[in-house]
Amino acid sequence: MKLPWMKKKGYGPDDVRTEKGIPIDEHQEIDPMTGQQKDYLVLIEKELSKGYIRPVRRSYTHLKCGNVTTMGESIARTYARDPSFYGGTFCAHCGGHFPIGANGEFVWLDSDEKVGT
Ligand SMILES: [Zn+2]
Repeated sequence: MKLPWMKKKGYGPDDVRTEKGIPIDEHQEIDPMTGQQKDYLVLIEKELSKGYIRPVRRSYTHLKCGNVTTMGESIARTYARDPSFYGGTFCAHCGGHFPIGANGEFVWLDSDEKVGT
């Protein structure tokens, strides 16, 4: 598995899965129709059950364009368990992935809280 950041964060290959079941490493290929990855990594149920440290939120605003994107439940739950799990996220309006975190481009819907913090 070519995901060295996972080891740095203390996750092994069995701690994650892909949302739709596309094999890990193939999942990051971009679908030219949507601009989205073919699939996204999420934490497995056992990791999620260790407890959320943020609320489960499904929608965020891209500060660059002002539009709202809504994500799937397993991704939302992964953010709630580990806010820094992802390095970027997708904007449905811009059709691409952009940075998250303290200096990122996204806030949770109806909040000033940066996605990924
Ligand atoms: Zn956007």
